[in-house]
Amino acid sequence: SLTTMTTLHNGVQMPWVGLGVYKMEEGSGEVKDAVLSALDVGYRSIDTASFYENEEGVGAALAETSIPREELFVTTKVWNDEQGYQETLDAFERSMDKLGLDYLDLYLIHWPVPGKYKESWRALEKLYQDGKVKAIGVSNFMEHHLDDLLLEANITPMVNQVEFHPQLNLPTLRQYCQNKHIQLEAWSPLARGNYFEDETIQELAATYNKTPAQIILRWDYQHHVVTIPKSTKKHRQQENADIFDFALTTEEMARLDNLNENKRLGPHPDEFD
Ligand code: NAD
Repeated sequence: SLTTMTTLHNGVQMPWVGLGVYKMEEGSGEVKDAVLSALDVGYRSIDTASFYENEEGVGAALAETSIPREELFVTTKVWNDEQGYQETLDAFERSMDKLGLDYLDLYLIHWPVPGKYKESWRALEKLYQDGKVKAIGVSNFMEHHLDDLLLEANITPMVNQVEFHPQLNLPTLRQYCQNKHIQLEAWSPLARGNYFEDETIQELAATYNKTPAQIILRWDYQHHVVTIPKSTKKHRQQENADIFDFALTTEEMARLDNLNENKRLGPHPDEFD
């Protein structure tokens, strides 16, 4: 169920499936409605970012729900132009004001801004040590960024959130993170809906009487990858969460793994901006 959790290396529990809210609008009430409907379906984890400009809308939903704070898992991220030590501490306060929370569950460095991300990481360590955030991590970090960060870090990131879907399954980064007990988390897990027609995925969907989205999200789970599919529609939110009543075989997992083409939808972490 949606309360099935992974345990991060500091002992904090994080749901395997959460709701991504990128591109959900705030002004129209879209993001608030989507978060409330996801919470109603059973989601407890919400992934936003200062860059999404919808933290206030997420916060409005969190203020309205009767679900106890300790059952929720809220992630936000420090954007590229907010990085640096003091800048990140300030960005965190802005995000917390918008979200209306007194602590955060997970704070991530959104992208590895060259020359800045180590200072940003020092700020995340400070926020963690001050008890303002339960877990800290990074996003869009490749092995070399992590190697570099770990040269000076006091705390190993608990999470690395990266683009991950059947066409980009990052075998070496997965192994690297597993060795260091860094929880991998998939963004654009559904490849934004662009890969549902694939033959293998269609065939497995028919085999299990599941949808292509469910096959892909189950594959994430069986790879021990946290996943945060985005949908504003309640029936799809429900569908995306309904992946805990079947299991892919080792052979089927390998067939899905073979779809890898190292194909990115988003920017390469060495070439963004
Ligand atoms: P996604 O892969 O989750 O795809 C979302 C799209 O797929 C939806 O807009 C909808 O069109 C479609 N969809 C969703 N469920 C479906 C279903 N059951 N059946 C058919 N179609 C369905 O894409 P995403 O939003 O880019 O990624 C998910 C989340 O990851 C984001 O919302 C955001 O929170 C996060 N993210 C993070 C970064 C980063 O740099 N850290 C970058 C991009 C996204």
